[in-house]
Amino acid sequence: MINFLKIFGKRIKKNANYKRYKNKPKNAVFMSATSNKVLVLNADYRAYTVCSLYKAFILVYLQKAEVITAQAGRAIRTVDKSYVAPSIIRLNKYVNLPYKGVMLSRQNIFKRDNYTCVYCGSREDLTLDHVIPRSRGGTSSWTNLVTACRRCNAKKGDFTPEEANMKMAYAPYKPSFIMFLRECAGNIDESWHPYLHFH
Ligand SMILES: [Zn+2]
Repeated sequence: MINFLKIFGKRIKKNANYKRYKNKPKNAVFMSATSNKVLVLNADYRAYTVCSLYKAFILVYLQKAEVITAQAGRAIRTVDKSYVAPSIIRLNKYVNLPYKGVMLSRQNIFKRDNYTCVYCGSREDLTLDHVIPRSRGGTSSWTNLVTACRRCNAKKGDFTPEEANMKMAYAPYKPSFIMFLRECAGNIDESWHPYLHFH
């Protein structure tokens, strides 16, 4: 039933607080949410995973994690108390697990860029553009590939964006695997962004 135990293995089960708390969540009222997903950061502030509001609440309650960002205007109520509803929490203890990378592929570049041309915002006729053209030594990498519509791609040709006088909506970055979790599709909270743009 409590999948979040996976995060800490069996240790948490032996925790006295956990036993004491075991029967209480049933009484907790989770107010209607802008989001029921919470971003979990490792102790070093790197994005670790995404969990439900319920699991995040318990991790904080057990003092296994602290709230980094709260959801504005939302609260979790138990019988006798009210708690902030987190949007981002940070684990107090570092979890030593390898970070999963995201495979560099055409589809994943599109996905990172939300299927939108970084130059003009068009969502049609999409191609991949090398920011620094291959002919000029530009690599095929997360930080040099962007989604561009065919028109912008042709207009840019063998120039850099500066030379072509074309502005990118943002600099291309290597995304966190969190962005690719199925449960997050189209549901990335604004406040999460600073934590999702590397590793
Ligand atoms: Zn375009």
